[in-house]
Amino acid sequence: MSEYMPEGISAYLKKRLDEHTVKTIKYKYGTVTKTGDGVARILGLPECKYGELLRFENGTYGMALDLQEDHLGAVILDTGDTVREGMTVIGTGKVAEIPVGDEILGRVIDSIGRPLDGRPLMAQKFRACEQSAPKIIERRPVDTPLRTGILAIDSMVPIGMGQRELIIGDRQTGKTSIAIDTILNQKNSNVICIYCAVGQKASTVSRVIETLKKAKAMSYTCVVTATASNSPAMQYLAPFAATSIAEWFMYAGKNVLIIYDDLSKHAVAYRTMSLLLQRPPGREAFPGDVFYLHSRLLERSACLSKDLGGGSLTAIPIIETMGGNISSYIPTNVISITDGQIYLENELFNSGIRPAINTGLSVSRVGRAAQCDSIKKVSGTLRIQLSKFREMAVFARFGSDVDVQTAKMLKKGSILTELFKQQKSNPYSNFEETLLLLAYNNNVFDDVEPSKLKPFCKKMTQYVKNVCAGIVPIIETGFMSDGDMSALEKSIMEFKGISDE
Ligand code: ATP
Ligand code: MG
Repeated sequence: MSEYMPEGISAYLKKRLDEHTVKTIKYKYGTVTKTGDGVARILGLPECKYGELLRFENGTYGMALDLQEDHLGAVILDTGDTVREGMTVIGTGKVAEIPVGDEILGRVIDSIGRPLDGRPLMAQKFRACEQSAPKIIERRPVDTPLRTGILAIDSMVPIGMGQRELIIGDRQTGKTSIAIDTILNQKNSNVICIYCAVGQKASTVSRVIETLKKAKAMSYTCVVTATASNSPAMQYLAPFAATSIAEWFMYAGKNVLIIYDDLSKHAVAYRTMSLLLQRPPGREAFPGDVFYLHSRLLERSACLSKDLGGGSLTAIPIIETMGGNISSYIPTNVISITDGQIYLENELFNSGIRPAINTGLSVSRVGRAAQCDSIKKVSGTLRIQLSKFREMAVFARFGSDVDVQTAKMLKKGSILTELFKQQKSNPYSNFEETLLLLAYNNNVFDDVEPSKLKPFCKKMTQYVKNVCAGIVPIIETGFMSDGDMSALEKSIMEFKGISDE
């Protein structure tokens, strides 16, 4: 028989009970006390974080954006009045996230990553929509051009990789067209593009997607959209989500271009949300932190240092003005955040000067650093010439007597204006841009009728391309030696001689 003697009953039971620990899970519930217009007031959930996603009893999601001592305010992501008073709410402990990775390219998704193009999306990685911007030490200066293929922009307001360049103008002045042309021009340049549509009509967005598809640009592009029919909360989230997707590529060492079309509607969606959450309204009824809304978004664009992979995120936000007023609240905010703006003018657009860029009010603060060698050599004083011409043209309208000097300047100016006219979806290559400006600098167009300028340019480009076939690929890479320049000048003159006969 064994020596085993059972311990006392009490001792045994105590030991067993001590071993047994009850694991408790605490579910914290809140209750909806008030709801309407896409927002809900919730009692409870004291540990809820700012921006946390909340799940309502019926499966609807909301986002906590107003944390008060005793209650919180949340915006509802779905549209329609699906949330009722008395419903329970639980915090998910997560903030809004978006799928990232190569799977996203070629897709159309909404602000929370749901595919909108009728195909399932198998994403593995997710990234929170709100991220902090790269620090100064993690950045390097902008030094590489991002070519738009639009002559007026590449020569006068060049955009660099990692820069933030605003496109601003009234409605229907070709803002979206410039942005889309820029995406189309990145076809062979290894730049990944994100187009973020906020608060637009669904039909406009689908037209843009159609254009991208037709040009086979979707293979390197992703579209993030929250249309006017989505809730303000979804519209508010869209640019942040799109930026997270772009950032993922940037940190993977790629060059990325992101278009926000447009931030005025984003600000309006934010205003709607804030007013419904009963935040105090400020100027133009926007909440006090609307500057912070856009600055924290655009600050995430960067040109990363070599240690971090050297990727870049170029942002082209779009702002719509009312009646050409660029000094109202949101335009001035975004102008001060960005590193330059392209100002499109209604008057120019209607008089047939398209793209309707006002050269006086357009700048690129990164400027020449973001221009390649060949364009730098030929675009010297174009801006000044064009501004002087526009100024002069106003005076010349009044009187017919102008001196020879002024008449010459007016003639040159009108040629330059004509040269800068460009149809949409018709980008120029680096060689073509260099050649046209070189010809202009050599006064080749002086006796060409303005209406015949475009066919003349086309023929000239073709001729020079044939004659200087060896130089073309070098100039496409952005370099132009003095020898190449004189060879080009020579063949331009040859062509001029032939066409004059
Ligand atoms: P909205 O305010 O509606 O967003 P928008 O400023 O984005 O307008 P777009 O939609 O780009 O303007 O263009 C308006 C119209 O102008 C379009 O019909 C487009 O085809 C035309 N357009 C734009 N750029 C050019 C161009 N360079 N040459 C000819 N037509 C152009
Ligand atoms: Mg547009």
